[in-house]
Amino acid sequence: MNIHEYQAKELLRRFDVAVPRGAVAFTPEEAASAARKIGGSTWVVKSQIHAGGRGAGRFAGDPDGEGGVRVVKSVDAVRAQAEQMLGKVLVTKQTGEAGREVKRLYVEEGCEIARELYLGMLIDRATSRITLMASTEGGMEIEEVAARTPEKILKVAIDPASGIQPFHARRLAFGLGLTGKQVSAASRFILSAYRAFAELDASVVEINPLVVTRAGDVIALDAKFNFDDNALYRHPDIESLRDETEEDPAEAAAGRHGLNYVKLDGSIGCMVNGAGLAMATMDIIKLYGGEPANFLDVGGGATKERVTAAFRLILDDPKVNGILVNIFGGIMRCDVIAEGVVAAAREIDLTVPLVVRLEGTNVELGKAILRDSGLPILSADHLADAAEKVVKAVKAIKAAQGHVQIQGEH
Ligand code: GDP
Ligand code: MN
Repeated sequence: MNIHEYQAKELLRRFDVAVPRGAVAFTPEEAASAARKIGGSTWVVKSQIHAGGRGAGRFAGDPDGEGGVRVVKSVDAVRAQAEQMLGKVLVTKQTGEAGREVKRLYVEEGCEIARELYLGMLIDRATSRITLMASTEGGMEIEEVAARTPEKILKVAIDPASGIQPFHARRLAFGLGLTGKQVSAASRFILSAYRAFAELDASVVEINPLVVTRAGDVIALDAKFNFDDNALYRHPDIESLRDETEEDPAEAAAGRHGLNYVKLDGSIGCMVNGAGLAMATMDIIKLYGGEPANFLDVGGGATKERVTAAFRLILDDPKVNGILVNIFGGIMRCDVIAEGVVAAAREIDLTVPLVVRLEGTNVELGKAILRDSGLPILSADHLADAAEKVVKAVKAIKAAQGHVQIQGEH
């Protein structure tokens, strides 16, 4: 799960990580009063979207205008910039061409930047350790630094048993070329940020840029958090920061129904119980020359409601022109799945071929429910049979539409 920059900074603040003062604003008036409250003479007005590259981004319809991060010198200018950005679509390298509508702004006190650095933390799967990454190339995308000048990325892996130690932080601070009191400021920053990462069950924290100010302070000018979804139940306060308007609507709906759904680019929707079987189903669809439209695991204890929701999710994807339901009923009963499929197919005007392969507990009952429904459901006896049938049916539709070649055909 992602959160906004202003929320990330609020979390960091709780762990005594140095961040500038700021406030969120939903209207130009709120932005102006936030600036007044913050005081000073320079403010930064920042678009809040779940994507990076805002500074270098451009607003749709205004290619020559400024980006999504603006430095201003008066409260009136804060209001004016807020008016220009709110409700507009910001396009950045990370949003894709469609861009994202800016619905919130963050107004922050300006600071005098001496150096822009990079600090990242993530879980390195190879070592199973939280790994700190730092670089002198602040403001640049770390992927770019890794590709062009990998030697500029310093890495320190932390042993989870002993946790972070001051020498880890100092090693990074010296590696970044910091001196004098900057070293202790950076060390404090890194130790606290690590604590935030570990205690909040983050999967990624990125501070880009991490800046050294003219006064020698070390503060986070930008902050990105990503959380391990499997640990969110331990952090209801973080879960409540979720901004569903920033998430893929299908994946957000899946989350609400407890479904594991990942949208893909193909045309064959899949509904499967169990992640391993779902992977195998996608593989076999490809083996028979089709392309899966999604990964969808309805889980072991799915209810009729959940199956109906899953079905609707698949059909909401306009690319889908065939569905393969593949259920091995162990804990899950085939008759429950069958009822869900029939209910959903009735509710939504089913216009694409539907192939169902059921096996396991109550399989005969399940098959009977499908048969007696009167719906045009193609029943399959085993996995290969199911894949072959659905790919064939989809190809027939595409041929009828004039698209003779199906993607991935061989
Ligand atoms: P991103 O483009 O989405 O990564 O957004 P950032 O928060 O990183 O902002 C982009 C750039 O704006 C930063 O690299 C800074 O150079 C600049 N910037 C952000 N905040 C401030 C600030 O408080 N003062 C000044 N002078 N520049 C800032
Ligand atoms: Mn940034």
